[in-house]
Amino acid sequence: MAGYDQNNVFAKILRGEIPCRKVLETEHALAFHDIAPQAPVHVLVIPKGAWLSSADFYARASDAEIAGFHRAVAQAAEQLGVVDKGYRILANHGVDAHQEVPHFHMHIFAGRDLGRMIK
Ligand code: IMP
Repeated sequence: MAGYDQNNVFAKILRGEIPCRKVLETEHALAFHDIAPQAPVHVLVIPKGAWLSSADFYARASDAEIAGFHRAVAQAAEQLGVVDKGYRILANHGVDAHQEVPHFHMHIFAGRDLGRMIK
């Protein structure tokens, strides 16, 4: 994959250049509703750092950023009220997984029986 593109849509959301429906913001992460939801609850959690993909993030981000990011995923799920019934977290990396936005993000899907996979 190429280098990080500072003009990707999530970088613009982080800079406040385009709006988002915010769920929560922490020191390390921002959570907001997906613009084209695939489930009744479909939220994206992104790290604030300029990380292109999961491979980039997990290999090079600091332990504090990685921990802070995952805590934010858990906090977002709690805030969305989906912990009891269940939810799915998923991150796409690269072409075969159809990663569309080149800034690492975790999807949270919830609000219905999700089956065994979301494609
Ligand atoms: P990916 O395929 O894992 O990269 O998922 C990218 C996600 O970003 C898709 O579910 C899109 O609907 C979502 N998305 C793209 N642009 C925006 C936006 O401006 N706001 C919120 N979600 C977006």
